[in-house]
Amino acid sequence: MIIGIAGLGRMGSAIAARLIECGNTVAVWNRSPGKADALVTMGAGEAKTPADLTVGAEVIITMLTDPAAIDAVYRGKDGLLRADIRDKLFIDMSTVTPSTEERLARDVREHGAAIVECPVGGTIAPARSGQLLGFAGGTKVDIERAMPLLEQLCRRVDHVGDIGAGSSTKLAINLMLLVFYQTFGEAYSMIKHLGHSPSQIVEMLADTPGGANVLRIRGHIIAAALGGDLSEPAAFELATARKDIALMMEDAESRGHRPPLTARALELFDEAISKGWGTRDVASFAAYWQSTI
Ligand code: NAP
Repeated sequence: MIIGIAGLGRMGSAIAARLIECGNTVAVWNRSPGKADALVTMGAGEAKTPADLTVGAEVIITMLTDPAAIDAVYRGKDGLLRADIRDKLFIDMSTVTPSTEERLARDVREHGAAIVECPVGGTIAPARSGQLLGFAGGTKVDIERAMPLLEQLCRRVDHVGDIGAGSSTKLAINLMLLVFYQTFGEAYSMIKHLGHSPSQIVEMLADTPGGANVLRIRGHIIAAALGGDLSEPAAFELATARKDIALMMEDAESRGHRPPLTARALELFDEAISKGWGTRDVASFAAYWQSTI
């Protein structure tokens, strides 16, 4: 398959590397220079602009921070929508709101192309090994067209509905995860005086009904941070997680309700970022909160 990928951050780079290793022909583009270098060494082509990325590509994947980034890469000067994209398939994997995806889908379809949204659960390591969880939104026909590619990236793809449904689902799963980091921090604070090591506590709580999966998957990073080791390179930045929580609030409020735990989590994440924790991995969040009590 001939694939263009725009957005070579942590996830976009990992996805591009995975698709090259799976035998696809891949071209890449990123706003800031230098991020394509390792992928070019692996065999990727590098496009000068998003519009150039579409030339010869059957499928274009975008993996971008937020709605503003989508706006710039699709609608900006030399953006994806400036090219002749008739009959091409776009797959946007960014975590954004349903309304952002609905607007994007309208614009892409007006230009004669097809689009699927497929935000994902999982971070860099699952992306590199094709073990992501995909929450796909779009028409049945378009999802079927995207599936051979999504199956190279994901261990499971759920077709959750039309465009927008994937984003709703992704925000819901990240809501549980991100609020859980604070829940876990508060539980940890109840028992840390007993003298067990952070890794003993993480391991014990991971095996209980209230222990979220993240304690099993990323518990070693959570425990290291609680023990004062913050050297783990960020796979999912606290600032990016904060962006997700803000989008959850925006989406909930557009539907007429205000989830109280999520609202408080947003305040706590803002406090962490104001104290310089924004570029750390979100798995350090419980350690941040311990540092405040
Ligand atoms: P990241 O490392 O910060 O990368 C963000 C990417 O977006 C970079 O390529 C960045 O380009 C680009 N970008 C941002 N603003 C832009 C703009 N205005 N114009 C053009 N490009 C712009 O973030 P990430 O962790 O890969 O996350 C990417 C998306 O995946 C986010 O929606 C995130 O919520 C979601 N996600 C992340 C994870 C994770 O574990 N990290 C897991 C699942 C989903 P520059 O290099 O030029 O800044």
